[in-house]
Amino acid sequence: MAKEESSIAKTAAEMVKGLAGSYAVTLKHLFRKPITEQYPEYKKPLPARSRGRIILTVDPDGDERCVACYLCSAVCPTSCISMESRERDDGRRHAAWFRINFARCIYCGLCEEACPTLAIQLTPDFEFCKDDILKFVYEKEDLLVNHGGRNQEYNFYRHAGLSEKGEKGTHINEKPPVDVKSNMP
Ligand code: SF4
Ligand code: SF4
Repeated sequence: MAKEESSIAKTAAEMVKGLAGSYAVTLKHLFRKPITEQYPEYKKPLPARSRGRIILTVDPDGDERCVACYLCSAVCPTSCISMESRERDDGRRHAAWFRINFARCIYCGLCEEACPTLAIQLTPDFEFCKDDILKFVYEKEDLLVNHGGRNQEYNFYRHAGLSEKGEKGTHINEKPPVDVKSNMP
């Protein structure tokens, strides 16, 4: 009997404690200044790596970074990227056309992760609502920007991407080949 009474008292104490805790939270917020952001008059700055509208960037020379390697479209879980590759006379690849269907995009950022040339980047811009679902299909002209996005200095073609022309050791940042015989004792 005494054991039962003690259990009831314990439960009642827990209930009172729980109620007091929740009222304390209510009271704490009752006298706080409300935080209301007046969107769209005030637009809260978002972190640079926020995942919104996608862009296609250019390298510091102003040339398109995308080499139409299809990695972004292969990794995209919703299959919303499509393109066709072409090669220029100087051996540089590019996308003849490049399309993203933003009505299917889930802004996961996997395309950006997969891109070897830092061409495709997600931006903090989330304000592009449309009244027609077909307007969410963005072509290359809509995606291409005239800057390098978050990586202004990177230039893929200074490191790779073109077929080799000239002798070994004569390319930018390339050391002359080692004479293996010079390593012999
Ligand atoms: S953010 Fe995700 S869903 Fe959108 S295009 Fe890139 S990989 Fe596809
Ligand atoms: S955006 Fe990047 S990953 Fe996609 S095709 Fe172009 S170079 Fe390849």
